[in-house]
This record gives sequence, C-alpha cells and structure tokens, in this order.
Amino acid sequence: MLWIELLNSEWRDWKGDGHLTDKLAEAEWRLKFAAHLGWGALQEPSEAQVERLFRVRAGIQAMARALQQDGVLSTDAIECLNDWMAAGEFRRQLTKQEDRLILTEETVHKNWDSLNAAFADSFARFATEGDPARIKYCDNPNCLWVFLDETRNRTKRYCDDKLCGNLMKVRRFRAKNKREPHEQN
Ligand SMILES: [Zn+2]
Repeated sequence: MLWIELLNSEWRDWKGDGHLTDKLAEAEWRLKFAAHLGWGALQEPSEAQVERLFRVRAGIQAMARALQQDGVLSTDAIECLNDWMAAGEFRRQLTKQEDRLILTEETVHKNWDSLNAAFADSFARFATEGDPARIKYCDNPNCLWVFLDETRNRTKRYCDDKLCGNLMKVRRFRAKNKREPHEQN
C-alpha cells in the first residue's frame, strides 16, 4: 500500500543503534521511489512540493497512530485527506481477465501533486475498508517500520521475521547469557 511505503521512507539503522536516515530528504531516492510507485520520469519536485510530501507523510503518520488506537479519524484528519486527494484525478477502468471483471483506478496526470493525492487516497481507502487493528509497528525498537498484520490472530511482531525477527531473537539470547552470571552472585 502506498501510504505504508511513504511512512517507511524513514529508515533506521535496525541492525545497530536505530540511527534515522530520512530517505525522503534525498533527491535521488525520491525520484526512484516515485518511479517504483508507478510515477516514472518525474522532474525534481519544487521546494513547495517537497514540503508537501513531508507534510502528507507526517499527517498520515499521526492519522495511522490515531486510527490504530481509537479506530476512528478526527474531523480535522478527514478534512486534510480530502484536501490532499483533491490534487489528483483518477480514472476508472473496467477490464476482463479470463472470466473475472476487474475495476482499476489510475491516476490521470502523474506528477508530485497527484502522487501526494494517491498517498492520501490509499490511506483513506484503508481507513474505510481496512482493519485498523492490523496496523503494526515493528517490535524492533531500532526499526519501527509500519506493516499490516495479515495473520489470523494478529501475532506478527516484526516487519520481516527473517530480518528484524531473527535479530531480536539473537539480542534476547545475548541479553539472557549476559544476565545469568550476575544472577548467580
Ligand atoms: Zn523491522
């Protein structure tokens, strides 16, 4: 989901001390990120557009927390999302794949403003159709990436079990081995 990818543009040194690298502040990364999301061949954003990207990310970050905790969005949040979505135009298209009908939505003009609108749209869609209780923050305190827990009993704790999950297992093991000699004193 676009909104999750936007929030996870904050990279922390998850293997180390959690030092934050804000990828959204890197011009080259921003262009690659936009292309990865289907907004290829964009020009460098203007200063105002960069500022808006940060504003939308901070807004959605706060809204995701609120949604996870309270299950609802404030009137202010709704107004913000509507305002951001107004910058994008979407075109709907019905296609047939074998025997199934698929309704897709495409952004008409791909630019930085419509990308921001698409972030807001993806979050608004999640807020209406998704399950807020599935929003999780990685249990590795030096990672904190956002993910949706799709497991039945909502037991997923890490953004990636092979990476953060294994690392935390190793950390717990080391902490335990360090503690034990002291406990014998
Ligand atoms: Zn993680």
